[in-house]
Amino acid sequence: MSLITPKVNGTYVTATRCEGSYIFDSDGNSWIDGASGSIACSIGHAHPTVVKAMSDACQHTSFVYRTQFSNPEIERLSARLCQKLGYAASFFVNSGSEAVETAIRSAQQYWRERGKATKTRILSRRLSYHGSTIGSLSLSGHWPRRRLAGPLYGEPTQPTPYPYRAANKEGMTAYGIACANELERELQQLDADNIAAFILEPIIGASGAAIVPPAEYIQRIRNICDRYNLLLIADEVLTGLGRTGRWLAMEHFGVKADLVCLGKGLNAGYFPISAVLFSSDVYDHIANGSGSFELGHTHSNHPIGAAVGNAVLDVLEQEQLVERAEWHGEGLKFTLQELCSKHTIVGEVRGEGMLIGIELVDPTNWNNPFPVELSAAIQATQIAFESGLVIYPSSGFAGVLGGDAIIIAPPFNIPEQATKQLIDKVDGTLRTLS
Ligand code: PLP
Repeated sequence: MSLITPKVNGTYVTATRCEGSYIFDSDGNSWIDGASGSIACSIGHAHPTVVKAMSDACQHTSFVYRTQFSNPEIERLSARLCQKLGYAASFFVNSGSEAVETAIRSAQQYWRERGKATKTRILSRRLSYHGSTIGSLSLSGHWPRRRLAGPLYGEPTQPTPYPYRAANKEGMTAYGIACANELERELQQLDADNIAAFILEPIIGASGAAIVPPAEYIQRIRNICDRYNLLLIADEVLTGLGRTGRWLAMEHFGVKADLVCLGKGLNAGYFPISAVLFSSDVYDHIANGSGSFELGHTHSNHPIGAAVGNAVLDVLEQEQLVERAEWHGEGLKFTLQELCSKHTIVGEVRGEGMLIGIELVDPTNWNNPFPVELSAAIQATQIAFESGLVIYPSSGFAGVLGGDAIIIAPPFNIPEQATKQLIDKVDGTLRTLS
């Protein structure tokens, strides 16, 4: 009987211990977790506050079913998230994909409750990743992952601002507005009476490696959603709860979404819990309409997941880790920019906070993307792994817009010494790759 698990060099690596920013195997090998797992372990591994909270939760309320019981941890987590992030209500599920599915269904239900049952379709962007379930993948502009699935329900149609590859780098404001105006153009062609919402990742993660749009883009998108009666869904599964140096990445742009998906940052990799936050407008129309939210899974509101969420918030607040993600991330990005300026294979180092993307380009022609089967990002990830560093590849978007990149996204509390090791290993990886 086989466990299906990724192979590295033909052998399975079995992690036997994780601590702080390090992962160990039974042969004494260790890795710096430069990608926080899959950009999840924001507070590092085996944090004693979370370990204790999980253990306590297991002992007093390991599980109750949400249709019959609430539990104190989930009530506290909901109140804290809503108060901190400025939302009226929350709903808890288990993965990022489920959070996106829940947001889609909530948007559809919202319009149904308002007597506009035809407003069901969700628009999305050609460079994006929203999850691996059929609904969330259908919205995703992640072509390598789409290729493996199907049939899917529709395709993303909207452009994703990609400043590095923009034709005119001088006019970022105009570029951002022009990208957003494509949404208005599509809404004029389609019937907005059939569209429920527009979904975006404020800063791109898996599908493009920390691409930050001009603020005017997000601001204009908000304005268009308001004028055409669309809900705006912010998929902050990867960015939410501090990754970009803000509690929500949307704060960088001064824009508030109607529905927010949280995942990796909420569970920090300890237990599968994710959430959707509802604005008071969305919540009130459903609560004062049918009064019944047509959502839920067996493990929704899980008490252990809730205890983890509360403990993660405790650690973020007490150790001021969102603030640290901002300043430490800024320092790390600056150092990597300096370092990468001597590697001709690097086109750009970008990102916010502890979400840093390194775009890899063909040194002979930056405009020439690596072919999917020869992905420089996958090669870099393997080289880094062999040198004891975990990074995250973002590859194959070459086929759509041109681009191949790696993500550096360590835990917010990675110590200085481990940060130096990480930088040296990135340097070594790029040297081997060139
Ligand atoms: N949304 C975003 C922005 C993501 O980055 C991801 C995962 O990478 C998901 C959704 C899906 O989350 P999960 O893998 O937990 O289902």
